[in-house]
Amino acid sequence: MDDLDNFRNDTRAWLEVNCPPEMREPMRDESDMCWGGRNPVFKNEAQKLWMERMAARGWTVPDWPREYGGGGLSPAETKILKQEMARIGARNPLMSFGISMLGPALLKYGTEEQKKLYLNQIARGEIRWCQGYSEPGAGSDLASLQTKCEDKGDHWLVNGQKVWTSYADKADWIFCLVRTDPQAPKHKGISFLLFDMASEGVSTKPILLISGSSPFCETFFDDVKVPKDQLVGELNKGWDVAKYLLGHEREMISGMGLGGNSGSLGAAFADVLADDPLLRADVARFDVDAMAFRAMSERFIDELKAGHAHPAQPSMMKYAGTELNKSRHELVMAAGGSNALEWDSDRSKKGKAAREWLRTKANSIEGGTSEIQLGIIAKRILDLPGA
Ligand SMILES: Cc1cc2nc3c(=O)[nH]c(=O)nc-3n(C[C@H](O)[C@H](O)[C@H](O)COP(=O)(O)OP(=O)(O)OC[C@H]3O[C@@H](n4cnc5c(N)ncnc54)[C@H](O)[C@@H]3O)c2cc1C
Repeated sequence: MDDLDNFRNDTRAWLEVNCPPEMREPMRDESDMCWGGRNPVFKNEAQKLWMERMAARGWTVPDWPREYGGGGLSPAETKILKQEMARIGARNPLMSFGISMLGPALLKYGTEEQKKLYLNQIARGEIRWCQGYSEPGAGSDLASLQTKCEDKGDHWLVNGQKVWTSYADKADWIFCLVRTDPQAPKHKGISFLLFDMASEGVSTKPILLISGSSPFCETFFDDVKVPKDQLVGELNKGWDVAKYLLGHEREMISGMGLGGNSGSLGAAFADVLADDPLLRADVARFDVDAMAFRAMSERFIDELKAGHAHPAQPSMMKYAGTELNKSRHELVMAAGGSNALEWDSDRSKKGKAAREWLRTKANSIEGGTSEIQLGIIAKRILDLPGA
């Protein structure tokens, strides 16, 4: 047996003993997700135990170096861990913008002190982060952002407004793009700053959606003082950090294309499809696309870990994955018929299908719209004239 076989056996045995049975059931709703944070809310003891056990082993971030709270696993070992978790249906122990977005940016651009402090906190689920990128006048054209950050000698002073800040009202800290040089060309006067959401002058206003929930906020900064050592990367070069982080965000969002390993739609709706040849053809087309996406995704992750991925590849993944996820939920609704449209009845599992279908509409907006991804693909991968 080679080392990887041994690793697989050990991992399987450890998961068998340490993953509580409740954490092997599919997530039903948002409360099944564990976000950690300064004041963590655990749905039950099993959720807490699962996060703590995985964090103690460094497996909330298996491929990060051990000195930063990770598991120090190789890409091959990380893949095996994911396969073994998927085999028993183990839930992700910790949802975190720190893991999927900020962490990779800190690993590349952070100082040693920043890495040791923030990455360890992220790995242990101690700090919940939010993302302060978009502003009322800066979404797709993100580099137009105006949140002002002035150098006051012994601290930075931040004034401005962000919008669509997911879970800002629940987050402990924010990673934020600010304008440090208003005279410079727009991409060149931006810096990347971290600060505590409990700082004086930070306030949030949840945005109420038609669904009744408020997953994101308007976020206001009014004379917020930020310690000097909380700037990441070089002053006025925050755009490089921002773009690198966006690549990781897009990679994370593209994972929606995998549909949470939900398997073939054809198999799930076999009884309905028997009487509907048109829907059957659409579902068959979808299942083939999903298989192709899965293969592309595996190749992309391998290339990324080996450092061979094209920098614009996350745009391709994000576009393909989110459009696929939207198609999946269109077909689920079509197969479910009028029952699937019900919002609050037991027959449609309390409106799960309809709610999930509507949520997918945001997939091709969050992290940069599909149109913006197509523009990047045209320019940077296809090298099209005029793009
Ligand atoms: C669920 C969700 C969560 C979010 N969470 C966060 C968060 O945590 N933090 C954060 O900072 N932001 C967040 N956002 C904001 C998100 O990044 C922006 O909504 C997105 O970048 C688009 O910006 P916008 O809404 O200003 O749209 P606009 O930029 O105004 O775009 C409007 C339309 O014009 C199109 N368009 C714009 N420019 C071009 C172009 N050059 N070529 C072709 N078409 C174009 C767009 O594709 C879109 O269809 C979130 C958004 C959603 C939906």
